[in-house]
Amino acid sequence: MAEHRIVDEFCELVRIDTASRNEREIADIVKAKLVAIGCRVEEDDAAIHLKGNAGNILAVLEGELEGAILLSAHLDRVANGYGIKPRIDGSRIVSDGTTILAADDISGVVAILDGVRRIKESGKPHPRVEIVFTVCEEKGVSGSKYLNFSKFQSEFGYALDSPGRIGRIIKTAPSKAQLKLEVFGKASHAGNAPEKGVNAIIATARILADIKDGRLDDESTANYAIFRAGGEATNIVCDYALVTGETRSLNHDKLEEYCRYFVDHCKKAVEGTGATVKTDVLLNYKCFNVKEDGKAISLMRRVFKKMGIDMIIDRGGGGMDANRFNANGIECIGLATGYGANHTSNEYVEVDDLIRSGEMVEQMIAQYAEQIKK
Ligand SMILES: [Zn+2]
Repeated sequence: MAEHRIVDEFCELVRIDTASRNEREIADIVKAKLVAIGCRVEEDDAAIHLKGNAGNILAVLEGELEGAILLSAHLDRVANGYGIKPRIDGSRIVSDGTTILAADDISGVVAILDGVRRIKESGKPHPRVEIVFTVCEEKGVSGSKYLNFSKFQSEFGYALDSPGRIGRIIKTAPSKAQLKLEVFGKASHAGNAPEKGVNAIIATARILADIKDGRLDDESTANYAIFRAGGEATNIVCDYALVTGETRSLNHDKLEEYCRYFVDHCKKAVEGTGATVKTDVLLNYKCFNVKEDGKAISLMRRVFKKMGIDMIIDRGGGGMDANRFNANGIECIGLATGYGANHTSNEYVEVDDLIRSGEMVEQMIAQYAEQIKK
């Protein structure tokens, strides 16, 4: 198994110490690989905005045919991604158990490199291939926020960045907003003059006691996860509390409705307590829901049929670069490359799926070329 070029390249790239905002080394290596394939390569200025050390990598493989197809994956990885020692264990590649494997998303990166190389080697005419390797995806899908979308000619594309066996596609992913609540009370000596104080913790408890959270409906969730207050001394009435949470929905209207509810509910719940609130809602990214008869899914249907793989249409629970491509007019879905248990030290990738992911990318370009020629 290990004699496969894509497996070697996967192991080479996961061994490079990388984190969000520290993608310099891997970015340089990937840029050199893209140039060697024959791509025109540039890097944008996302590093400045993100205070990181690398920008998004954009590469173009010019084609003889009309049309353009966009392929993307991210270079960064979640924490605990230094010192990765990949090894083959049965049908899978795993880490040594002390780190993540970074198959999320190096499997996507090497699938694109391998597939594009295969197309070049085949010598067959193909359309323009636009490749985007983003930075800082694991920190709120931040790198792709700074892409210059006017550079792309593609009307449709793919984010090779989803867990599951090859054949799984993500046609919809949620909108997400960050929710911040600050509660202001009034400090006073708890023994001498408690009646002059307003307890921010008690006021916050009122707010949270009956706030809608968890599973809101089939498409929407909310979670209040961080609570900070007091901590000084028991003889002071607590005058400040901070709660941070998030909400997600596959339906953007519902997300906006929940955000309005959050603001209203917090204000109303503290009425009569003497406490005041300040709420902040920050939209992280917008949901998408790609049509099943659109260009992106139709092409995958042909690709998987050709490869003898069952296509499974699914929905994602989190945002990804595909959210930003869709929000900027490029119809984009997520594609699985065979990894699982990502973001944990049990992360793995199925070797067969990894090899077939490279073939899948080759077929995506080849099948699209066939379609254009007709
Ligand atoms: Zn990812």
